[in-house]
Amino acid sequence: MEKKQIEQIFIKTNALRNGHFKLTSGLHSPSYFQCALVLQHPQYLETFCKEIVDFYAEDQDMINTVISPAVGGIVVSQEVGRQLGVRSIFAERKEGMMQLRRGFRLSKNDCVLVVEDVVTSGGSVKEVVELVEASGAFVVGAACIVNRSGDSNPLDIPLFSVYNTNAVTYEPEQCPLCRQNVAITQPGSRHLS
Ligand SMILES: [Zn+2]
Repeated sequence: MEKKQIEQIFIKTNALRNGHFKLTSGLHSPSYFQCALVLQHPQYLETFCKEIVDFYAEDQDMINTVISPAVGGIVVSQEVGRQLGVRSIFAERKEGMMQLRRGFRLSKNDCVLVVEDVVTSGGSVKEVVELVEASGAFVVGAACIVNRSGDSNPLDIPLFSVYNTNAVTYEPEQCPLCRQNVAITQPGSRHLS
């Protein structure tokens, strides 16, 4: 899928907004991306996950589990699992530690694809990869809808992303939008970010 086409879908669904935003990190940015707003539409979720499935086509016979970190990645995992015809599970943080809960289990017989909605530093995905490897299961690779670190891969394993972008951010003191007195908004909430 063409990058322009994907951007049009992001803008149409209000997932990608331009303006002046205060991010959860405290940094300012001229754009804000909320992946849930595009993935709430099953047809776009299906289209983007098809790209992930196509990328890992050669490993399709091997993969028997798709996993994501909660919360944002869960719908991606579910849809990729549906298209591959395999189970989908998720890991979640409890007391700071990424864990498998709810009776989800992995063993050395499992071959796993790790997915996420948005990767920036890749921290959550790395934790899930470590969790999967600690169980003895094999990690085929990782995939995300949006890689906010541009073309670079912050992981030690293959990472396929449907869309790459370099998030522009400024320290508040250096923000050109603040200097132009552009009104700032703080989208989302800490609990959902
Ligand atoms: Zn600013």
